[in-house]
Amino acid sequence: MTPLQETDSGSARPLPDGEAKQTVEQDLRQVQAELEARVQERTRKLAQANKALAASNADLEQFAFAASHDLQEPMRAIAGYCQLLQRQYTGKLDATADGYIKNAVDGVNRMYTLIEDLLQYARITRRGEPFQPTDFNVVVREALARVKVALEESGTKVECGELPKLCADKGQMIRLFQNLVSNAVKYRDRRAAEVRITADDTPDEVLFSVRDNGIGMESKYFERIFVIFQRLHSRAEYPGTGIGLAVCKRIVERHGGRIGVESVLGQGSTFFFSISKHLGEPS
Ligand code: ADP
Repeated sequence: MTPLQETDSGSARPLPDGEAKQTVEQDLRQVQAELEARVQERTRKLAQANKALAASNADLEQFAFAASHDLQEPMRAIAGYCQLLQRQYTGKLDATADGYIKNAVDGVNRMYTLIEDLLQYARITRRGEPFQPTDFNVVVREALARVKVALEESGTKVECGELPKLCADKGQMIRLFQNLVSNAVKYRDRRAAEVRITADDTPDEVLFSVRDNGIGMESKYFERIFVIFQRLHSRAEYPGTGIGLAVCKRIVERHGGRIGVESVLGQGSTFFFSISKHLGEPS
């Protein structure tokens, strides 16, 4: 379409071709310059916000670490004295006092476990080992050895395909598989549990999956279960503190990956996570 130019009489007349092209080009350059300036401004603000977020995350992490670390000592003392009280005075006072002592011991033990869990969570980034070439066949073997008793008692069958070698923190990888397999055992239904572990190679990452045939869950919980201390069941139904999957998520993220779940209530769940193939490379 030919651009129009206002005439003295107020009516519009077509601009000569060369002039029109120049005007359009000028307009385009101006728009481009404005856009670039806006993008630069946004990028600057985003970088600032990221820096502030990283600083506040580091503060929070430091707080969680220090709080859980420093609380451990007094908690251990309280737990010890509550247990002494229980051992030496249960049956010597009245039934109400016995009830109080029992509740105090249960509460303090639970608090102690929560603090230990929190510390374990904070240590993933603060005390992580450097990434080293790691054979995932060995990782899974060691993870299964740690849950051997639970596997045997529940009659769980674990199938595992051939797994790759990748740069990773071996101890954290063992913990990751241990948490996922022990959940598959814990959240089994009445059938014998069957767990299948696989790895799929992609150009930039390896996608692992741990599939079970357990109780499954509704899709509305797929995100929530990875949040620290979030559980879908009471402790009376299934023991636990809700830290296991939050730990898995943090480990996977430290390895440049993502974690998620696909599940159907009553049919089973597949937990999948990716591990970057570039972790050992210089950055
Ligand atoms: P915990 O087992 O101590 O509750 P997790 O963080 O490991 O903590 O799990 C969070 C919640 O996710 C569990 O309470 C459970 O409801 C659900 N969940 C985890 N793994 C499975 C699984 N394999 N099958 C079904 N539900 C699961």
